[in-house]
Amino acid sequence: MNRNIKFSVKAVLFSKFTLAFSFVLAAFSLSYFAMAQTDAYIIAHQTPIVLHAARLLEIESGKLFQPGEVLVLGERIVAVGQSVEHPKGMQYFDVGDATLMPGLIDAHIHLFLHPGAEDLPPVEESVPWRTLIAADAARADLMAGFTAERDMGTEGAGSADTAVRNAINSGLILGPRLRISGNAIDIMGGHEDANRFNPAQAVLSNADRANSADEIIAVMRSQHKEGSDFAKIYETGHDSMVNGELHTPYQYTEAQLAAAVEEARRLNAVVAVHAMGEPGTLYAAEAGVASIDHATQLSDETMRLMKEKHIPAVPTFAIFEYFAEHATSPETKAREEALLKFKIGEFKKQIAAGIPFAVGSDVGPFPHGTQARELTLMVRYGMKPLAALPADLIEGAKLLGWADQIGTLKPGYYADIIAVPGNPLEDISVTEHVRLVMKNGSIVRQ
Ligand SMILES: [Zn+2]
Repeated sequence: MNRNIKFSVKAVLFSKFTLAFSFVLAAFSLSYFAMAQTDAYIIAHQTPIVLHAARLLEIESGKLFQPGEVLVLGERIVAVGQSVEHPKGMQYFDVGDATLMPGLIDAHIHLFLHPGAEDLPPVEESVPWRTLIAADAARADLMAGFTAERDMGTEGAGSADTAVRNAINSGLILGPRLRISGNAIDIMGGHEDANRFNPAQAVLSNADRANSADEIIAVMRSQHKEGSDFAKIYETGHDSMVNGELHTPYQYTEAQLAAAVEEARRLNAVVAVHAMGEPGTLYAAEAGVASIDHATQLSDETMRLMKEKHIPAVPTFAIFEYFAEHATSPETKAREEALLKFKIGEFKKQIAAGIPFAVGSDVGPFPHGTQARELTLMVRYGMKPLAALPADLIEGAKLLGWADQIGTLKPGYYADIIAVPGNPLEDISVTEHVRLVMKNGSIVRQ
């Protein structure tokens, strides 16, 4: 904990926001030696911070405090309301005509991907290079207001995400709280394998291969050994659109996924799947995965199970929009647009069915730091802002395993707080223009 504070001061020193942080630096350097005595008094010895804005969103009730204030001490929120205590010696930040709200959560990201190298990154780039790229991506996401994220696979960089998560946690680099999976898991010749190259080249896969329940478990154990928090499994693909309908073969049986879920339970972890459509989405719901990502096509039975077992869908519209807009040929563009149109129609049915949602963008193939676009698209395609925001914050916190720690501005929770201009309940797209970011009680962007 002490190292944490020391290193975050260093990281801040080298950022371009140095001037804005001079208050924070002063507070930390004053309190650092006091804290070094004992961890138990870390909070008591730090300078209190009060954030003030025209509005504050209480996400659980959907109410706005006008104005709104938060009192932060150390890494935690102490008080929230229209006004809070202003302790002596506090630092006071008035962000004006803005709304204070919990830091955003992205439940589907790829720190190790960047535009232009998403197809065969293990062939094109070294893991050390990709790790540096990932550190930069983590910083970009945090600056955009994402204070917690779930990385859904390094796509061939193995367990290098362990280093990125640990570097963030130790304060060496800036980034969101992370849950990481290492490589995703895929069948031989599957969705993320490097297929149809010269066999003599043995081209590297983007994922770890497993062809049976036993092999899935063996891969999960080695990923766990190397630092993963959960397992990401490719359950469907490749995808094709035929006469306006999605076709996507399943990769693992329900029994194989259930074996993975059982192994995850033994490790006190979860399994999340990439699953575009039936019957893979049904197998995933039956097996009891933690989330069904992409979730473009869900049968009535799959949706019934998702409601019953509280398994959120993570639609990832942002990546579909990006691929449709950045297609390299008219044929690809037509296919991507047909897929997005189909997806939008299915999403409306899913909302009507009342299944749970979390918010994930699949950022990586499109630029890090731009992914609040996902919230804008979920609202454009049918959700109310007051449904999309709890999906992001409350479902996201649950899905990441921080249910009682983040996602809400409440006393005792981590001080992961952002300010967005205007009112996100009236215009969700303000989440794409975050003004202030506090993570773990430190202001990292102002
Ligand atoms: Zn993904």
